[in-house]
Amino acid sequence: MDGDIAKFIELGKKLKKKNNILHKGIVFDFKLTKSPIYYTSCSLVSKSHTEVHISNIPHLRNIKNTLINMSTTFDPIQRINDGFEQFKINEFNKDPDYYRQLAQKQQPKFLMFACSDSRVSPTNILNLRPGEAFMARNIANLVPVSNKERYSDIGAIIEYAVETLNVEVILVIGHSRCGGIERLLALPDDETSYDFLDDWVSVAEPAKQRVIAENPDASGEELQTLVEKASVLDSLKNLLSYPYVQSGIEANTLQLLGGYYDFVRGNFQILETVTV
Ligand SMILES: [Zn+2]
Repeated sequence: MDGDIAKFIELGKKLKKKNNILHKGIVFDFKLTKSPIYYTSCSLVSKSHTEVHISNIPHLRNIKNTLINMSTTFDPIQRINDGFEQFKINEFNKDPDYYRQLAQKQQPKFLMFACSDSRVSPTNILNLRPGEAFMARNIANLVPVSNKERYSDIGAIIEYAVETLNVEVILVIGHSRCGGIERLLALPDDETSYDFLDDWVSVAEPAKQRVIAENPDASGEELQTLVEKASVLDSLKNLLSYPYVQSGIEANTLQLLGGYYDFVRGNFQILETVTV
């Protein structure tokens, strides 16, 4: 039996490699012996971690179908547990001193504004470790002008990051094919209505108007890219309306940077540095 299990694991690894599947459980049946017939399921969690479950199941056909169906079912709890297990093994347990220090205090150098878009997580694209960046994410990575009544969440993040954590850099990251900017460009003609979205993306309306005025012939993806970048520059300027930011720059303890992540071409560009 042990030899059969080893063979099964190898088969699973090959299948994973072939299909380039990561963090996706693959469950399929595999006949190990003729009588009784064992069915196995194999969850491939990562290159180094393969879970194998074996059971003796008499009702072959029905169970086989069940197992095959399971392979396409998204299991959020399983995904969460698998992901954390990988982090614990590959990161947390490998550097206990780092995490012991981090448990006492966070001292991030960066405050980052990035879009909520699932493709642009700064943690992944800039290879950040826990403790490196205080994070603010919203649709279209926008920083509105300081307004206590309307945007207390944004103000609280900036105030805490600059005043308490003493971050040295605020980075605003724009990105390609941003759904928030696309929505802004669809207004006011599009008839779909949203309760919150349209009001929020209108923070970038001045950037949109400026780009259209300066590039009257631009349209489609070209126009969207220009507005995505222009709105980052506006966010940098809007940051100056927060007194903590203004005084940090004047004291030369804080720097503002704009960035643009193009996930179509796979590049990251620094757009501008703001100084007073
Ligand atoms: Zn976006």
